Amino acid sequence: MRAPNPDVVRVLIHSDARQTIKTAAARAFPLEAGGLLLGWWDNDMVVVRAAIEVVDPAATGTSWIRHEGLAQRALDQAVAKFGHPWLGYIGDWHSHPAACDASQQDRQSIRIASLAYAQPLVLIVHRRDGIIDIHAARHGRPQTVSAESI
Ligand SMILES: [Zn+2]
Repeated sequence: MRAPNPDVVRVLIHSDARQTIKTAAARAFPLEAGGLLLGWWDNDMVVVRAAIEVVDPAATGTSWIRHEGLAQRALDQAVAKFGHPWLGYIGDWHSHPAACDASQQDRQSIRIASLAYAQPLVLIVHRRDGIIDIHAARHGRPQTVSAESI
């Protein structure tokens, strides 16, 4: 048996980010919506300051795919708009038009993406019932999340 993973990542989610995700999820329903999480790292804490939507023209009720070109453009625009010196990409979000948590594939995607970063990445899944499912990965390994709202 594997020993329990001792790594804990604190995730601070700003109400602006929650609101953007909630609004985009409601607008896209019954299809999935998704996008990027913007914020910064502060020691072992990830601050999720904002969320931006990246439209997937081929989204379905069970799939939203991040198009890299559109995502990069949305990221550049958001960073320029917010004008915050620390703000950058810290993870992804998408909605589930059902009351279900992040899938195995969702969790695998964020683990793989985290291999390219020195700091942990966050995945937020907004469920239809309003519950937010939060995951984090560091260097390809899933982390235990301790989430707080600000
Ligand atoms: Zn999903």
